Amino acid sequence: MTTSDIAVRKYDLLLKGGRVIDPANNIDGNFDVATSGGHIALVAKDISPALARTVANVSGLVVTPGLVDLHAHFYGYGGSILPDAHCLPEGTTTAVDAGGAGHLTFDDFNEQVIAPATTNVFALLNIAGEGMVGEPEQDLEGMDVELTAAKISQRPDVIVGVKVAHYMGPGWEPLDRGVQAAEDSGVYLMVDQSPIHTRPMDEMMLEHLRPGDMVTHCYALSKPMTDINDKVKQYFFEARERGVKFDVGHGGGSFSFRIAKAAIEQGFLPDTISTDMHRNSITANLATMPETMSKLLALGMDLPTIVKQSTWDPAQAIGHPELGNLGQTVPADIAVLDIAEGDFGLVDNGTSHRVLKTNKRIVCEMTVKNGHVVWDKNGRSRDDWSTTPPTNPMI
Ligand SMILES: [Zn+2]
Repeated sequence: MTTSDIAVRKYDLLLKGGRVIDPANNIDGNFDVATSGGHIALVAKDISPALARTVANVSGLVVTPGLVDLHAHFYGYGGSILPDAHCLPEGTTTAVDAGGAGHLTFDDFNEQVIAPATTNVFALLNIAGEGMVGEPEQDLEGMDVELTAAKISQRPDVIVGVKVAHYMGPGWEPLDRGVQAAEDSGVYLMVDQSPIHTRPMDEMMLEHLRPGDMVTHCYALSKPMTDINDKVKQYFFEARERGVKFDVGHGGGSFSFRIAKAAIEQGFLPDTISTDMHRNSITANLATMPETMSKLLALGMDLPTIVKQSTWDPAQAIGHPELGNLGQTVPADIAVLDIAEGDFGLVDNGTSHRVLKTNKRIVCEMTVKNGHVVWDKNGRSRDDWSTTPPTNPMI
């Protein structure tokens, strides 16, 4: 490559010939995507390959912003996984740890996991000071509003909200303290709280949560959105009307095809799509972003909506509008997805694992993070092996 070649090759990477779906910018069509210096440089028709140092043919594939997963587990939990090993191969370039750390353990989480990761890792701070390990989510004494809010104010660059989960006691104390900590620090709250008779779901959604707060595991059998006749309960519509958000949080026990199908048919789509990825949810029923998206596609949601709820909507929910889109100059975080055709079985959970047969499965082909190709399943950005130079005669 000559000096003039290098001057002409102003793009680092060119993804050529894909269907670009970028809901934030109202783009859905065949475009090329070029990156430069780790940022999106241009999304346009027919960008010349001569302008790029690396060209990947992605025709027949779907190019989206890097996926944004609002519910995963990277710390403070027996099933925690490694963000780069489990997110980047799935097209996920941004993920939020849902409550693994509290104000007492956040610094360790940051040092051990967040800082070294290539994936953008954000945190929802558990209202329980110790996070999830052991039984802190049952210990009201360890749930301190002021200390939680203080830690959030200290690290607003990585802590995006508060998590309240798994409390088995009779009342609303953990939730109300979590909401207060979120209110005091100007962030949202995510709740995972199964109903019992002393604290029913309708009361939680209509009286305790604020607009913008988020109910995760929205299609879980343990928090049934539908009644015995598969009708979505009226208070879910009322909660949505007052601004409560509904997140998928697939997980190992929180995604029922029966509930999701009925809800989608009755117009109750999720607001955001997320995995609740941890060791067991991945092995038991493939709780990854592409697979969760595949399940919603099989249940009748359309692809552009699924992409929007997996990119732009979650990026906005965490207050990071520089993510989840392919606008010019934003970080070049990109997923290249194959909508594979064949005979597939997708698996849910609840009373047991059950299969839904389908002929489409979304599979991640390539992931680009800050302009670097970090996953390339079929070597689309790589030179042919025959270009390998001869062996070095000196060794
Ligand atoms: Zn979870």
